[in-house]
Amino acid sequence: NKSDPIAIVTPSIRASDVQKKYDTRAIQELDAAHYIHSFTDTKALASVGARVIVKGQGIYIWDSEGKRLLDGMSGLWCMNVGYGRKSIADAVYVQMQELPYYNSFFQTTNAPAAQLAAKLVEISPPQFNHVFFTGSGSEGNDTNIRMVRRYWDLLGFKERNVIISRHNAYHGSTIAGASLGGMSGMHDQQIGIAIPNIVHIGQPYYVEGGKGKTPEEFGLEAAGWLEQKILEVGAEKVAAFIGEPVQGAGGVIIPPSTYWPEIQRICDRYGILLIADEVICGFGRLGHWFGSEYFGIKPDLMTFAKGVTSGYIPLGGVMVGDRVADVLIEKGGDFNHGFTYSGHPVACAAALENIRIIQEEQLVEKVRNETGPYLKKKFATLADHPLVSVAETCGFAAGLNLVQKKGATVHDCVPFDSKLEVGMICRGHMFGNGMIMRAVGDRMIIAPPLVTTIAEIDEMIELIRHCLDATLADLK
Ligand code: PLP
Repeated sequence: NKSDPIAIVTPSIRASDVQKKYDTRAIQELDAAHYIHSFTDTKALASVGARVIVKGQGIYIWDSEGKRLLDGMSGLWCMNVGYGRKSIADAVYVQMQELPYYNSFFQTTNAPAAQLAAKLVEISPPQFNHVFFTGSGSEGNDTNIRMVRRYWDLLGFKERNVIISRHNAYHGSTIAGASLGGMSGMHDQQIGIAIPNIVHIGQPYYVEGGKGKTPEEFGLEAAGWLEQKILEVGAEKVAAFIGEPVQGAGGVIIPPSTYWPEIQRICDRYGILLIADEVICGFGRLGHWFGSEYFGIKPDLMTFAKGVTSGYIPLGGVMVGDRVADVLIEKGGDFNHGFTYSGHPVACAAALENIRIIQEEQLVEKVRNETGPYLKKKFATLADHPLVSVAETCGFAAGLNLVQKKGATVHDCVPFDSKLEVGMICRGHMFGNGMIMRAVGDRMIIAPPLVTTIAEIDEMIELIRHCLDATLADLK
């Protein structure tokens, strides 16, 4: 039954069955011997052994010992429709038999890619009538750099090639993605930023920079850093500004309400292209199809990935607004850029079914009007915990800060010594108690699947509170 929200691949899960099927130690040994993990100290991991994840159903995953975990992070912010969707598996299976692969380089296309392009245009804001497909969000942001430079070149402004981004932004892990990103740890390891003409401004993080100001005042100040940077670089050299509507990997940094409208005003004033990196915020995370709609901005380009297929199969891309598409298509001739897997028919078939589910189950509307407001109310109650200074939510993304001592305002709280790694201690308790919550320093974050129910939100908040208590007990 296509409309059954829990039409699951694996109907029943018993710990003993799982243990019989998987030899945890053997998998861990193979893993430790041969697999270099992303963003992980592989040597340190080998000494403890990786947790082997073997099943998923709804908002839960299971490891090879049969332990159940509530996936508060939707995998890596992608599992929007939840695990175990048989109809997506079916769509993939059917497409694989019909046409498992063909490219769209040499004046060819395939039906799912064309249909998905039209579907994405239908659900996007009105300025978007075209899409460029990639295999990931990082490739989408590489595409943005090429498109933006091509656009200005075609208009006769070759010198307009500086892109402004933000510190603590995450735009992917290719050289271009990492260069656009503002994660100092990634930059340090690159031995000099490979892509020239990318500069960064501060992030709109009120807890970090808003002391003595209201959030609204701080939002305007942080947006003003863009104008300062434009004037410093020279407006005639600036091509674009890129930002995540809510910074995800940086720690669910929710900008004050004044921030994005002011960024839009500044971009408009200097004629600069606005790129919204919607890889996390897109496909309903903030209770709108795209985060740009939540903040009322009108980007020229939008990067997407993750939620477009709910992570069932890799797919990414860029929604190309009319301002850029008209120039690129009318004046550009060949656009010398593309990937073997751009418009992959199987990935596009998975995306079509995923979007059909989101629409049929009205997940975007639910997050906006029902489960999102409920999560906000419940998550906010965690702020009364002795360890927590602030607990804030935007749609289905939330973050709370762990502090040593609470104060009258967030700016009067005393943080922990970072060497104590309190966030990691807390994350350990979460894992131990069957809850996946991520630590970004001492900020604990969640971004649950959009299918999470009211009862599951209650369970999640209870688990988090229990783990905060356990963390506090450890520190005494
Ligand atoms: N942009 C943002 C905002 C992201 O959060 C991510 C991944 O987390 C990316 C880009 C990179 O996407 P991918 O890992 O698919 O290359």
